[in-house]
Amino acid sequence: MQVPHPPRPYILAETNWKAVQETKFEVAILPWGATEAHNYHLPYATDNYQNEAITEAAAKLAWERGAKVIVLPNIPFGVQTGQLDIALCMNMLPSTQLAILKDVCDVLVRAGIPKLVIFNGHGANEFRAMVREVSFFYPQLFTCALNWFKVEPKKGYFTNLDGDHADELETSIMLEIQPNLVTPLSEAGDGLPRNGSSKVPKKAG
Ligand SMILES: [Zn+2]
Repeated sequence: MQVPHPPRPYILAETNWKAVQETKFEVAILPWGATEAHNYHLPYATDNYQNEAITEAAAKLAWERGAKVIVLPNIPFGVQTGQLDIALCMNMLPSTQLAILKDVCDVLVRAGIPKLVIFNGHGANEFRAMVREVSFFYPQLFTCALNWFKVEPKKGYFTNLDGDHADELETSIMLEIQPNLVTPLSEAGDGLPRNGSSKVPKKAG
């Protein structure tokens, strides 16, 4: 894919070995998403598109203020054990995620990077216990995790925050960053929040 700008030194996928060798990175950001159905109106990679857009924007701001951050490639598979009945929700079990996370930590320690932020974009990914475990094995690496979707939005910015999936929050972001992949909202059902299974949207009442 054509990158519409010069390589950004804070995006690992775009930068090069020379630039990496010349930079003493302080923080690595690991976006971790999911590939899963998002109702009928948003694409399967919604969480990944959001992760990339938000981490890239945040890293740009940090870099411009002098922070040496590097955004690692997003990991596109998340925990899907709650919706195994939905075709092609790409389940990755927590034990597999931990194995991957350990390998990433090992790479960062070898590169002399002291801090890792796991940037989670999917509700069923839970990194708390994993952070404890990798911190046990790699005490020289400060590791933490955050769920961006838990960040309190500006008051009044959204009219409905009751949903947790394919909701107003996610739909709004996708209309901003990938509008071509959002189908007309008439596809989304009544838009009412519901809990549990990700099957066909529940009708009012
Ligand atoms: Zn999502």
